[in-house]
Amino acid sequence: MNPNDTLVQRDLAVLWHPCTQMKDHERLPPIPIRRGEGVWLEDFAGNRYLDAISSWWVNLFGHCNPTIGAAVKAQLDTLEHVILAGFTHEPVVRLSERLVAVTPEGLNHCFYADNGSSAVEVALKMSFHYWQNVGQRRKTRFVCLSNSYHGETLGALAVGDVALYKATYAPLLMDVITVPGPDCWQREPGESCADVARRRMADMERVLAEHAEEICAVIVEPLVQCAGNMRMYDPLYLTLLREACDRHGVHLIADEIAVGFGRTGTLFACEQAGIRPDFLCLSKGLTGGFLPLSVVLTTDPVYQAFYDDYEKLTAFLHSHSYTGNPLACAAALATLDIFEREPVLERNRALAAHMAERCAPLRDHPHVGEVRQTGMIVALEMVKTRDGRAPYPWQERRGLRVYRHALANGVLLRPLGNVIYFMPPYVIDEAQIDMMVKTAEQGIGRAVGEDV
Ligand code: PMP
Repeated sequence: MNPNDTLVQRDLAVLWHPCTQMKDHERLPPIPIRRGEGVWLEDFAGNRYLDAISSWWVNLFGHCNPTIGAAVKAQLDTLEHVILAGFTHEPVVRLSERLVAVTPEGLNHCFYADNGSSAVEVALKMSFHYWQNVGQRRKTRFVCLSNSYHGETLGALAVGDVALYKATYAPLLMDVITVPGPDCWQREPGESCADVARRRMADMERVLAEHAEEICAVIVEPLVQCAGNMRMYDPLYLTLLREACDRHGVHLIADEIAVGFGRTGTLFACEQAGIRPDFLCLSKGLTGGFLPLSVVLTTDPVYQAFYDDYEKLTAFLHSHSYTGNPLACAAALATLDIFEREPVLERNRALAAHMAERCAPLRDHPHVGEVRQTGMIVALEMVKTRDGRAPYPWQERRGLRVYRHALANGVLLRPLGNVIYFMPPYVIDEAQIDMMVKTAEQGIGRAVGEDV
């Protein structure tokens, strides 16, 4: 029996996998991974897969990165965990100091959780609670962008707009205001991405002007709507949005859970717009992809609105058991060490340029409607016809064909519908980029062929 098979059988008897129609596994069983190293994952039969999506965008410096691994091992012998209410520990203090130092000026307070969705819940609750504490009790609503994604817990899902994940749960979700976003794929002929940003800001402006007194915050994914098919937009939108939020007295929540830590070319995407949000949500790459951890950074005014005598009952009483876990903090500190010691962003610029060069010929492909890129994220939008950018019907699952082709050829891609994308670990080299792009190109060729 194939050495992978036994584990698959045991798996399917007891596991329920995330974001998966389990019946699909009748045809395409899950792949048991035995070990990881750098960009590679290896299964029990010795097959290797280049992790072109950084295992759901978490991995920054390769699997089993020795620097991060050593830091976690050292921490294991000192303190594995301690309650963070009433207690503290050095890794969480040092991490907070360093996060305050590297994030936009004015984000001075760190509140921890243990996954991205929970960080979004924290930011939403904190914003609402801030307005309650300062006496603006009519502020109870949130604004989000069309095609946005902020996680799967009920609050985070409510401020998202990807129907595939959200529609079923609609009766359970809070009522939010969804404003057309600045997605540059939606541009009119002759429009630039900056033009789209300006046009869409007019929509946002109208909503804020009309509803500001009931709005707590606007929540956005800066520059790239990752789960929403890697749609990208101009930084100008964020600059204008910051200005509009200030003018209307509304918070701005930047969800950099996916785009933070260098994915877009700068350490944080907000830097490209020169803005500081009121809440910055980070997770995924925070620990280099080793352990679950998330954090919400916020400002002095927000912190001060909760700071009072206990009897005033203004404290933020939100908590998660594993908040600020020391092992995860040690992984995060080691990740920041790598950013500090090595020219990561500079190296990424060269890698991004190489990805751009390798993907350029795909711009002429009859079934690729767009090749778009922001830093280390590249997306190829598969279309039925380039004229009018007609999509393939989702039921045809063309992306899945690319996925299967890539797996058979040693690359882990995980297309979002008809969008094939690369978001590799930063330790990828040029030859690996060549192999990754070539495999995707062949996969697209097979996926659009009538014979598949
Ligand atoms: N926000 C964004 C922008 C994300 O991309 C994700 C995860 N894909 C989340 C929130 C949720 O994070 P988690 O899966 O850790 O709950």
